[in-house]
Amino acid sequence: MTREITHFVNGRSVSGGSGRWGEVFNPNTGEVQAKVPLASKDEMAKAVETARQAQIAWAAVNPQRRARVMFAFKALVEREMDALAEMLSIEHGKVIADAKGDIQRGLEVIEFACGVPHLLKGEYTEGAGPGIDVYSMRQPLGVVAGITPFNFPAMIPMWMFGVAIACGNAFILKPSEKDPSVPVRLAELMLEAGLPEGVLNVVHGDKEAVDALLTHPDVKAISFVGSSDIAQYVYATGTAHGKRVQAMGGAKNHGVVMPDADMDQVVKDLVGSAFGSAGERCMALPVAVPVGEKTADELIERLVPAIDALRIGVSTDPDAHYGPVVSDAHRKKVESYIQMGVDEGAKLIRDGRGFELQGHEKGFFIGPTLFDNVTPKMRSYQEEIFGPVLQIVRAATLEEAARLPSEHQYGNGVAIFTRNGLAAREFAAKVNVGMVGINVPIPVPVAYHTFGGWKRSAFGDVNQHGTEGVRFFTKIKTVTQRWPSGEAFDQAFVIPTMQ
Ligand code: NAD
Repeated sequence: MTREITHFVNGRSVSGGSGRWGEVFNPNTGEVQAKVPLASKDEMAKAVETARQAQIAWAAVNPQRRARVMFAFKALVEREMDALAEMLSIEHGKVIADAKGDIQRGLEVIEFACGVPHLLKGEYTEGAGPGIDVYSMRQPLGVVAGITPFNFPAMIPMWMFGVAIACGNAFILKPSEKDPSVPVRLAELMLEAGLPEGVLNVVHGDKEAVDALLTHPDVKAISFVGSSDIAQYVYATGTAHGKRVQAMGGAKNHGVVMPDADMDQVVKDLVGSAFGSAGERCMALPVAVPVGEKTADELIERLVPAIDALRIGVSTDPDAHYGPVVSDAHRKKVESYIQMGVDEGAKLIRDGRGFELQGHEKGFFIGPTLFDNVTPKMRSYQEEIFGPVLQIVRAATLEEAARLPSEHQYGNGVAIFTRNGLAAREFAAKVNVGMVGINVPIPVPVAYHTFGGWKRSAFGDVNQHGTEGVRFFTKIKTVTQRWPSGEAFDQAFVIPTMQ
């Protein structure tokens, strides 16, 4: 019998009651390994009500005690790292070492959230007027929700609930229905770490569950990460219902390779960032832009043997560089983009279509694919492929190279590889993209900085985690106070000023 995944509400496992289910595959074998309940509007409303009640007491817990739950949670996740990584790997398809990286990057946001007493301290001005002091405080919003994608089932939920809960909110997590087991386990560990029941709830589902969150009057903020069309829909619908929304979308990140770059290192960086996790990272580098024909020819000459040496395997194989993509539908989509590239006239140097892993012929594997002579007019360049496909777009000058990411519809990340500090500095300052790497292929900012792209890679104006995350999950209140001192003040009919 197929294993049934459950919701996690009010500190308990709750069976799905809607009668609607999704299938959770093992992408290594292509088999269904579990079924996940898809919540109804009513089921979501019950979870929101549970969270609303739990939040009142949680907000009254002092910030240092809330931080202690985060410290304890970190220790528990570290204790369970191996089991969590395996659980993640066999639902997502990323290799175990990469699954551990997914969990570790999430834990780094938990470490940041451990500093919440300091982050919530507020500001104080003594003597802003005669006998008047002004202070501000950051207060939680109430019930807030996170809607997360399949590609980082540990890191992205922790980005969101780590900061939100430390700030005194209660949280509803609607994780991806493709790999829902790790998010549930994380919520169980939060309970074990001392979080009161009902403060963190996991409710699975699809559009119906998402819409229930977007329209529920007691949900005060929505944090979303996923593809751009859905991000835009979530932003428009959530804000139309009076909510604060941050909605991160898709990406197509470029790596500009200058003639003076350390080419051995560039090849390692490009191969790792284009093909790692089968290209299913929003900060992958699926486009390389060598500057000058000589640079392009040398780059391709070195890339081909490095790509041929890649080992594609079962995600639990410690020797595999990358595993399968998440679903058969996604495999077909990526392969259709490869065909599109061919039809559009790009030069296919390595073709990963039809790749079969011996003994795992039904797994969702795709071999590494390399295109040269890709141009900005091609749809296969303009759109996100999200698979193990590296496209080379040749540019004659740095200006031409920099225009590509700047004019692309997405603006998540970008990298430049060079030894020229001045060129890198100018590029970083001028490029129309939210996160920049200088000789760093995947510039995901550390937890105490903030994560967020530009253009169609993010809707809303507040980033994930760091102090921006604290801003997103709190509202500021400013108090102006004067205590009776015996001094009388005249009746005033004009606006008080500081004159
Ligand atoms: P997705 O948009 O299909 O799903 C994301 C979430 O939205 C899931 O929880 C899903 O259940 C929900 N959803 C799906 N269809 C919906 C609908 N019609 N209405 C309401 N909700 C819906 O994304 P995915 O395939 O899970 O993840 C991959 C995408 O996420 C890629 O585009 C990738 O670039 C992007 N991503 C972006 C970032 C970032 O920070 N910018 C990070 C990771 C992933």
